[in-house]
Amino acid sequence: MIDTVKIPSSLLPEDGRFGCGPSKIRRKQIAALTEAGTTLLGTSHRQQPVKHVVASIREGLAQYFSIPDGYQVALGNGGASAFWEMACASLIARRGAFGTYGSFSGKFAASAANAPFLEDPVIYKADFGSCALPKYTEDVDVYCWAHNETSTGVMAPVERVEGSVEQHALTLIDATSGAGGLPVDIAQTDAYYFSPQKVFGSDGGLWFAILSPDAVERAGQVEHSATLEGARRWVPPFLSLTKALDNSRKNQTLNTPAIATLVLMNEQVTWLNEHGGLKWATKRCAKSANILYSWAERSDYARPFVEDKSIRSNVVVTIDLDDSISASNVVAALHANGIVDTNGYRKLGRNQLRIGVFPSVKPGDVEALTYCIDYVVDHMK
Ligand SMILES: *Cc1c(COP(=O)(O)O)cnc(C)c1O
Repeated sequence: MIDTVKIPSSLLPEDGRFGCGPSKIRRKQIAALTEAGTTLLGTSHRQQPVKHVVASIREGLAQYFSIPDGYQVALGNGGASAFWEMACASLIARRGAFGTYGSFSGKFAASAANAPFLEDPVIYKADFGSCALPKYTEDVDVYCWAHNETSTGVMAPVERVEGSVEQHALTLIDATSGAGGLPVDIAQTDAYYFSPQKVFGSDGGLWFAILSPDAVERAGQVEHSATLEGARRWVPPFLSLTKALDNSRKNQTLNTPAIATLVLMNEQVTWLNEHGGLKWATKRCAKSANILYSWAERSDYARPFVEDKSIRSNVVVTIDLDDSISASNVVAALHANGIVDTNGYRKLGRNQLRIGVFPSVKPGDVEALTYCIDYVVDHMK
């Protein structure tokens, strides 16, 4: 154990939460929760006050992402991880092409590989810290990758694979840690899905998906064919996208959601829209990320992990430290001073800091964080 370094309070950020999910929840959201205490919490999710909150989130997201005509906002329980299984059950007809470049993008591909009714996926793989998008592939009906690979701090472009529309293949984007903090043209996607505990600074447990008419149609076809005699696929109700959609259209969910999460989410979507929407948020995240990357580049002991600047994430910043400085000791010292969740992704196993700079995090606090890291490193030596 190192001696605990005491960071002078004048250097500390106002708020010490820099996690990549769950991420910082703002005080205003907590206040909204308190206010909802007796009117919403503990009441039926099939009645108007809660359904009104769901409607407000769905409309707020439609506005925030400027969704094209015909697209719909769906939601359900289980987070993005549940949506992967739902996509395997309800959206992939036979075979998918996947870009994998980290833990999360790899997990979805693994789910598809393990589904006994799907053919083996075609995988385009890159090392951690870089990015591989799926290329045009014959005989696939979905293309899948992550907007932001949270395990490595890599952001990827979101643009349909050339030729994919002609072959009637869908584009499914895991936007869990990117949605809301990175620019996107929703028309380039058929399912743009995410959980609310990252950019949207809410609690976990739900998934949201912006779905194109083609995605909705595909789910109907796949689920219908799965009910035919001799079909090999089982689509359990929990993994049925059409059932999720039917409920979403009524501003409900298939089964009981955490109402508190809905309240936190509604407050955040409202806040983001009021402050200038996606444009404002993406600028704010880019500013925060840039503070960290330029600090690391100036530093004599730190450097950005992702070498290619064009894919360095503006929402999840990964910084490698010199081997002479133990990242886990730095993380522990920061933690002792109330600055939490700056550790790198466990399975990456690098001497690394990973910092979530979602819209709720103030750029001024990110700057303060750089002073605190420098202070800790100076005083650990
Ligand atoms: C966090 C994360 C997930 C998993 O989200 P859950 O809500 O835990 O299911 C999936 N994909 C990405 C890119 C993530 O960052």
